[in-house]
Amino acid sequence: MVVEIVHGSYPTPVERLDALSTPTCDLWVKRDDLTHPLYGGNKVRKLEHLLRDAKARGKTRIVTVGAVGSHHVLATTIFGARAGLSVEAMLVPQRTTDHVREVLRADLSQGLLAHRARTYVGAALGMVARMGQRTYLIPMGGSTVVGSMGYFDAARELKKQIDEGAMPEPDVAVVTVGSGGTAAGLAAGFAALGMKTRVIGVVVATPPFAVRWLTRWLMKRCFAGSSADRVLFTSRYLGAGYGEPTEEGTRAT
Ligand SMILES: *Cc1c(COP(=O)(O)O)cnc(C)c1O
Repeated sequence: MVVEIVHGSYPTPVERLDALSTPTCDLWVKRDDLTHPLYGGNKVRKLEHLLRDAKARGKTRIVTVGAVGSHHVLATTIFGARAGLSVEAMLVPQRTTDHVREVLRADLSQGLLAHRARTYVGAALGMVARMGQRTYLIPMGGSTVVGSMGYFDAARELKKQIDEGAMPEPDVAVVTVGSGGTAAGLAAGFAALGMKTRVIGVVVATPPFAVRWLTRWLMKRCFAGSSADRVLFTSRYLGAGYGEPTEEGTRAT
């Protein structure tokens, strides 16, 4: 296996959703599901920055954290191993579904060394206990300032597509908010680039007040000139909690 830091395929395409657009709402999607042929989605942009930082600091081992079915943990396992790093994670229980089982199986097949934690506080203590000179800690969702800058890049990429006429400048960009890095990086990027676009963050993790606080904190650290109202939040679609599907969500999917 070639040792390399993941690099996605960019720019990801923008497409108009004709069937879902209405005379008053022009709906577009930026296909970040296509960031990588092996494991796409929104974790790739963050990991590009995080893994580069870890390697630059001479680290050989990553310790991260997430729920048992965390896609962040899986993406970190896949791309961390390819970058030549050993990957460990503190895994916190969530209600077991087929999907959660599938993610955990994929983690283990890709070489994750998994440790069990009962709670997120326990997981944090477990991470600290595993700290070492050559260990790089990645908190929940990879949402550090370094990781969030991956979505600052995405804002720059979108701006270029708009400037080239691929789509009109959006009034709002809607993203889900788990650990906040995606929304924070985008909002900071839009502000720094002088765009009008605001971010609507659909909160999918708990507690919502902490999610909002962390997102705004990360946004300010990515670009100090971002104002708080650059990102608006809604918790209306959280349902029964993190990882719990709602009927509307399932139907929309
Ligand atoms: C992880 C994930 C999120 C949450 O991103 P955060 O940066 O943790 O807020 C949103 N959407 C998808 C598809 C994800 O996989």
